[in-house]
Amino acid sequence: MLTIYNVIIIGSGPAGHTAALYLSRANLSPLMLEGDITPGGLLTTTKVVENFPGFPEGIDGYDLTERFKQQSIKFGTNIVSETVEKINQIHDNCNDNNDQLFEVITTNGMIYKTKTIIIATGSTPSRLYIPGYDEFWHKGISTCAVCDGSLPCFRNVPIAVVGGGDSACEEALHLSHTASHIYLIHRRDTLRASKIMIERLLKNPKITPIWNSEVIEVMGTKQVEKIKIKKTDSNNEINESILEVRGLFVAIGHKPNSKFVSNMITLDEIGYIKTNEKKETNIKGIWAIGDVQDPMYRQAITAAGSGCIAALEVERYLQ
Ligand code: NAP
Repeated sequence: MLTIYNVIIIGSGPAGHTAALYLSRANLSPLMLEGDITPGGLLTTTKVVENFPGFPEGIDGYDLTERFKQQSIKFGTNIVSETVEKINQIHDNCNDNNDQLFEVITTNGMIYKTKTIIIATGSTPSRLYIPGYDEFWHKGISTCAVCDGSLPCFRNVPIAVVGGGDSACEEALHLSHTASHIYLIHRRDTLRASKIMIERLLKNPKITPIWNSEVIEVMGTKQVEKIKIKKTDSNNEINESILEVRGLFVAIGHKPNSKFVSNMITLDEIGYIKTNEKKETNIKGIWAIGDVQDPMYRQAITAAGSGCIAALEVERYLQ
């Protein structure tokens, strides 16, 4: 007979592992489907994590994720390297309580049955498709000022930020505390950020907006040294220029990894899963945690907090 799990956690970042830790310590034997492309998610690509409490010297993102994993396994989480393709709601006659059951189907055709699901699949920062981006990724290019901005290579040097939304403004303002100067490069001449963020940004003497411009190449030797910028408004005589910067922070939006549940779970207009304060989705028995439902904070520690909330709610629900 097929096992019916109490809970399946989809995703293996700080949110998923925090949920796994709480649920395994509650003897609920969670199954975690960690994904088979980048298990551990975004955090594994961060070189030094300095803002997760408990590591005063900082810790490599990959090592931190490995520690999460060891802790989840130690208390009884079963972890499988598979990626989920689809979730089905099913009604199972073998279930005496007539409760809702779910079927979780993976890309290699495995089917798991479960009473509850926690979705912790994170989000993917949008990237630029330009020469030098892959070469200098993590060698001066970043998508998280809060994570990387205070690293020595970004201190007291000029930095460029790309984007015109709240994230770009926030990144630029955050970096202005440590960098020597910030250039905010935006493809239009108006920001889509909130009024208050725009006011703060334009008032900051360390931030210079470069309007109607896009970055078309990143150059350097070992680290980013300069970027090539092209004007997007055709009326300008000089179309391309070089800007000397030691860092490029790309803040052009995130794509939540929620497509596989878009047929059943309510998403917002960008694709973030809508949750309430208990991290419940619109489907009874399914919770969402971490970056897949958080357009605002997107930090390892806030993701972990949401994992704790959902785990305690799942425990209550199963009782
Ligand atoms: P966003 O609002 O979608 O802004 C993305 C920005 O990147 C836009 O200015 C866009 O330009 C630009 N962009 C997109 N693709 C580009 C490309 N290929 N090349 C160059 N530029 C590109 O994303 P976000 O700033 O991450 O914000 C997402 C949501 O989170 C928003 O609702 C935001 O309000 C919220 N948020 C709030 C806070 C806060 O309140 N503290 C902080 C962060 C985020 P265009 O403007 O030309 O489209």
